[in-house]
Amino acid sequence: MAQETMSFQTEVKQLLQLMIHSLYSNKEIFLRELVSNASDAADKLRFEAIADGSLLENDPDLRIRVTHDAAARTITIDDNGIGMSRDEAIANLGTIAKSGTRDFFDRLSGDQQKDAALIGQFGVGFYSGFIVADRITVETRRAGKPAAEGVRWESAGDGEFAIETIERAQRGTTITLHLRADEDELLSSWKLKSLIQKYSDHIALPILMQKEEWDAEKSEMVVKDEFETVNQASALWTRSKNDIDAEQYTSFYKHLAHTQDDPLAWTHNRVEGRTEYTQLLYLPSKAPFDLWDRSQRGGLKLYVKRVFIMDDAEQLLPSYLRFIRGVVDSSDLPLNVSREILQESRDVRAIRDGVTKRVLSMLEELAENEADKYATFWGEFGQVLKEGIGEDNANRERLAKLVRFSSTHDDSDAQKVSLAEYVGRMKESQTKIYYVSADSWRAARNSPHLEVFRKKGIEVLLLTDRVDEWMLSFLTEFEGKPIASVARGDLDLVPDEAEKEVQEQVGDALKPLVEKAKEVLKDKAKDVRLTFRLTDSPSCLVADDGAMSGYLQRMLKAAGQ
Ligand code: ADP
Ligand code: MG
Repeated sequence: MAQETMSFQTEVKQLLQLMIHSLYSNKEIFLRELVSNASDAADKLRFEAIADGSLLENDPDLRIRVTHDAAARTITIDDNGIGMSRDEAIANLGTIAKSGTRDFFDRLSGDQQKDAALIGQFGVGFYSGFIVADRITVETRRAGKPAAEGVRWESAGDGEFAIETIERAQRGTTITLHLRADEDELLSSWKLKSLIQKYSDHIALPILMQKEEWDAEKSEMVVKDEFETVNQASALWTRSKNDIDAEQYTSFYKHLAHTQDDPLAWTHNRVEGRTEYTQLLYLPSKAPFDLWDRSQRGGLKLYVKRVFIMDDAEQLLPSYLRFIRGVVDSSDLPLNVSREILQESRDVRAIRDGVTKRVLSMLEELAENEADKYATFWGEFGQVLKEGIGEDNANRERLAKLVRFSSTHDDSDAQKVSLAEYVGRMKESQTKIYYVSADSWRAARNSPHLEVFRKKGIEVLLLTDRVDEWMLSFLTEFEGKPIASVARGDLDLVPDEAEKEVQEQVGDALKPLVEKAKEVLKDKAKDVRLTFRLTDSPSCLVADDGAMSGYLQRMLKAAGQ
């Protein structure tokens, strides 16, 4: 078929502009992205070959090759993975399939470091090749298709790309970057190797480069036809903990989470018994942009006996732990497992329980031993963890210990106080844990309800997150102490003898006033009571015990209910 010229989707054009003009100082990421695509292509082939072994043709050893040609000024990344049909090439290399592209543009900060990290997260890695190349040629053939259905795709990264059908014996994809004028630095085996080792060491597939030898006669390096593996090429989680150092764990995380940030913590172990699996779980140090988008899948990468099965296996994690990143490799699940099967599987439930416990232990350890890191975690993900109090009955007590509040004790809006600390500071006569909730920290701490507590030196938790009231409807006590709103019902603050006497006298004296107020307000207030809980304000509204609090009422109203 003759060559055809097509136009990129508008978003792609914008993206290319951005890549080329503003991500220049992070240009090295192009290799990581292209190698990661080659590795994905191998994963996909391995997966499809479970059902149809003939797809492997006579070439079952999957690998990636990275070569360069100094004379032609090109770098080539070649894989024998799944490849692309003509339609797939048009769709995958001409549009941005994933939703949220608008979001991507909105989130660009102008900070090159941060923006470069977003590229991987948004699945627009292929286009990063244009940072260093002024022309990219892709030749590909989908596994299982005849040699006559090869495809050549080419673009200069302006507005269009050309596509034509070619003869291609080799399955998989060959990507050739024609380097921009000032990128000669990349035309060196040493440079390419160091980039691969820096960014792609944890790719489980062998990455091969041509051997080079010093030729004494010519007095220069000579490239041999022989290839050697330049990365570790083993799945990190299958290795023994003792053989993995912190840097390797960190770099695997960056690959997994498409980020340049270090993780806060990780946990890695093999679970044996009725259900057997390996888990490597990471706690990120920063929330992703879509943490609050409930439709976003979160979860772990699922492997079965080292074969990649799926990304974002949300059945492996409760939704309140959706920020955890990592890998689960199961020995029990069938290779042809689908999301539907996952939902029903007893093994999956066992894994999910195990993963949850493991994450909670990791958080407990962090809270205990690394307060700074725990504070970082809480700032980024605390509100999400609070959802667990309502969602996870079995672990509610453990979760309650992990929750942090801001409180009148330290008078700071940072959420640092645990319920255990609060209980440790309770006054002898105090029987309840008190909280006040409001739209903001300022409003909470200025609440008139707090006056009497201040006077008596009783600590009150200041709740300002949207999930707080909902959470407390599931968490009604802690270590046997009821958790009570300062705005609800009678307070049991025990007055001392002198106070009692004064209160009785005042009570008698003001009885007529209270009666009068009741009469005047009979359509508006259920009851009018004399209170000693205020010290500066003359009156305040309270909710009945068991009735909705003012804040929750306002919130539901705002939500149209
Ligand atoms: P992502 O990898 O997140 O999907 P990319 O921009 O990196 O986003 O790649 C876009 C798509 O192009 C991939 O999803 C894949 O379908 C296709 N693709 C890219 N490189 C290859 C390759 N080497 N082999 C097969 N398909 C590829
Ligand atoms: Mg990619």
